[in-house]
Amino acid sequence: MDEELESVEEWIKKLNIKSTKDVQVPKILFDQVIGQDEAGEVVKKAAIQKRHVLLIGEPGTGKSMLAQSMVDFLPKEELEDILVFPNPEDSNRPKIKTLPAGKGKEVVRQYQIKAEREKKDRSRGVLFLIFSVVFLGLIISIVISNWTILFFAIIAAAILWMALAFNPAMRTERAMIPKLLVSHTPNDKPPFVDSTGAHSGALLGDVRHDPFQSGGLETPAHERVEAGNIHKAHKGVLFIDEINLLRPESQQALLTAMQEKKFPISGQSERSAGAMVQTEPVPCDFILVAAGNLDAIQGMHPALRSRIRGYGYEVYMNSVMDDTDENRRKLVQFIAQEVVKDKKIPHFDTGAIVEVIKEAQRRSGRKGKLTLRLRELGGLVRVAGDIAVSEKADIVTADHVIRAKRLSKPLEQQVADKSIEVKKQYKTFLTEGSAVGTVNGLAVVGANNGLSDFSGIVMPIVAEVTPAIQKGRGEVIATGKLGEIAKEAVQNVSAVFKKISGSSKDITNMDVHIQFVGTYEGVEGDSASVSIATAVISAMENIPVDQSVAMTGSLSVRGQVLPVGGVTAKVEAAIDAGLKKVIVPASNFGDIVLDHAHKDRIEIVPVTTIREVLENALVDCPAKTELLSKMGGPVAEGTKAVMPN
Ligand code: ADP
Repeated sequence: MDEELESVEEWIKKLNIKSTKDVQVPKILFDQVIGQDEAGEVVKKAAIQKRHVLLIGEPGTGKSMLAQSMVDFLPKEELEDILVFPNPEDSNRPKIKTLPAGKGKEVVRQYQIKAEREKKDRSRGVLFLIFSVVFLGLIISIVISNWTILFFAIIAAAILWMALAFNPAMRTERAMIPKLLVSHTPNDKPPFVDSTGAHSGALLGDVRHDPFQSGGLETPAHERVEAGNIHKAHKGVLFIDEINLLRPESQQALLTAMQEKKFPISGQSERSAGAMVQTEPVPCDFILVAAGNLDAIQGMHPALRSRIRGYGYEVYMNSVMDDTDENRRKLVQFIAQEVVKDKKIPHFDTGAIVEVIKEAQRRSGRKGKLTLRLRELGGLVRVAGDIAVSEKADIVTADHVIRAKRLSKPLEQQVADKSIEVKKQYKTFLTEGSAVGTVNGLAVVGANNGLSDFSGIVMPIVAEVTPAIQKGRGEVIATGKLGEIAKEAVQNVSAVFKKISGSSKDITNMDVHIQFVGTYEGVEGDSASVSIATAVISAMENIPVDQSVAMTGSLSVRGQVLPVGGVTAKVEAAIDAGLKKVIVPASNFGDIVLDHAHKDRIEIVPVTTIREVLENALVDCPAKTELLSKMGGPVAEGTKAVMPN
C-alpha cells in the first residue's frame, strides 16, 4: 500500500494539464459533490422516491450541496402558487387557494385591476357630487347675490369629501385583493429552501402584528399573513442544518407538517394581534433534509427522527477519502470548481495544485487519506487566490498557497498560535544542551473537532524523584488535567522496570513529581506518556536528556510506543522551535506530511519501543549503556526482545 502512494509532485506530471483551466467542471451540482458517493446515491434515491433524509457528518463536507442537488432529481410535478384570501364571514380565518404555477400572479393582477377600476368610478362619483354642490352654491349665490351661500357650499363639499374618502366602507375594495404567499413561474425548478437557524415564524409562517387594530385603519388579516419556509418549500426540498438547535415545539410542528402535508399559518408571537388569526391549512408537501453532526441526533425530537427513519434515509457523510489517483483527480476538479464559482480568482498552476492536495493529505490526519472537509479547503483556495489577485498575478502558484495556509487558519488555531507565541518569548524550554529529568514533549492544542485543525506545541515535562516519605508507598505527584495521564504513564514505566533484570530501582520506594511547564488550556495529553516516561527514567537513573530532541507517543504497559494524533502539527512545532530531532511512533511515520517551509529541516526518528526512545533521547554515557543493555539488545520487532525476564 505504501509503495503505491506516489508523491504528488510525480503524480501531477501524468495529468498533462498546465492549470485548473484545463479541467472541466460538471454542469450538474450533483456531479460537483466529491467523495460522498454512498451519500450521493442515497440522496438521489430519496429524491426520486420523495423521501426525507437525515445527513449526519462533519461540517463542510457537502451536506447542503447534496440537499440542493436533489431538486434536479425530483419528479416533475406541477408546481403550485399559493394565495391567501380574505374571509368575509370571519376575518380572522383567511382562506387559502392553490393555483397552477404562474397563475397566482395573474389572479392577483385581475383583482387589482378590478379594484382600481371601481375606485376610479367611485372617485369620479365623489368628484361629481362635490362639483355639483359647489356649482349649485355658485348658481344660488349669483341668483340671490349673496356670496355666503357659495362659502357654505364649499365647506359642505369639503366635509363631504373627507367623510367619503376616510370611510372604511370605501376601502373594502383594497381589502378584497388576495395576497400571493408562494409563487413560481411555470418552468421553475422545484424550490430548495435553506431554513438553517430560522426562528419559528420564518419556518412555519407568521401573521404580522397590526398596530391599528380597529377604526378603519387596520390592515386586513389576510394581508398580514406570511408564508413559512415549509410552505415555500412546497413540492421541493426543505434543508435544515443543525436540526438539534431547532426548538422542540418547532420540531413537533415540523413533524405535523410532514405528516399532514399542510400546515395553517398563525401568529407566532403570543401577544401580537396576529395571534388571533389562523389561516386555513396551507399546503407544504416538501422533502425534509435534516443535517447535523453526530451529537445532533441526541438533540433531535425522537418522533421526528423516527419519522425520517420510517419514511426515509439516514446517511453518514465521509470526512476523508482514500488517497488514490482518482480521488486526487477529483480534488483537482474541486479546485477548478471553487475557482469558477468564486469568479474573481485566477486558476491554479500545477505547483499550486500540488500544495493543495498535500494540504488535503495533511488535514486528513491519517496516512493514505485525503480530507473531505472541503469547505475549509475551499477557504484555502480562495485565500490563495486573493493573494494572487492582490499581487496582480494571473495564475495562482505554490508560493501563494503556502502563504495562504498561514492566513487561513481557523480561529481556534489562531488563538492557540498566539499563546504559543507568548510561550516562545518566555522560552520555557531548552533547545540545546542536556538536562536530567527534563523532556521536550509535544502536544496539540486547538479545535478538537478533527485532527486537521490542531496546532502543535512544545510542552516541557520535568520529573523529579525523591525517596518516598513512607517506604513502599511511593506516590506520583502531578497536578492538572494531565495528572491522570502522568500517573498512568508512571505505572507503565514501573511495569517496564519490573521486567528489567537486576534493576535496583523500585518505584514503590520513590515519590515521583511530574510537572508540566506552562500547560496550555486544552492540551490533549494522551500522547505525552512517552515523554513522561522518558523524563521519569532520566530522573531515576540520573542520565541527562538531550534537549535538542522532542518526542511524542503513547506508551503501552509492555513498553511499546503506540500511535498518536496530530503528528504533523507536532513535528512542525518541533521544527519551529528550532529542535534538531523528533521521535515519533513508527506507525505514525507515514502520517507526517510536511509542506515546503518545513521539509527536510529536522531528523525524524520513528520508534516502536521505549528502549529506542531512550537510545535516541538520552545523552551517551556509561550509565546509558548499562541501562540499555539491561533492557535488552537491539529490538527488531515485538516485545520479546525488549524485556527479557
Ligand atoms: P455542509 O452542509 O456539510 O456544512 P456545504 O455543502 O455547505 O457543507 O459545503 C460548503 C462548501 O464547501 C460548498 O459550497 C463547496 O464549495 C465545498 N464543499 C463541501 N463539501 C464538498 C464536496 N463533498 N464536494 C465538493 N465541494 C464541497
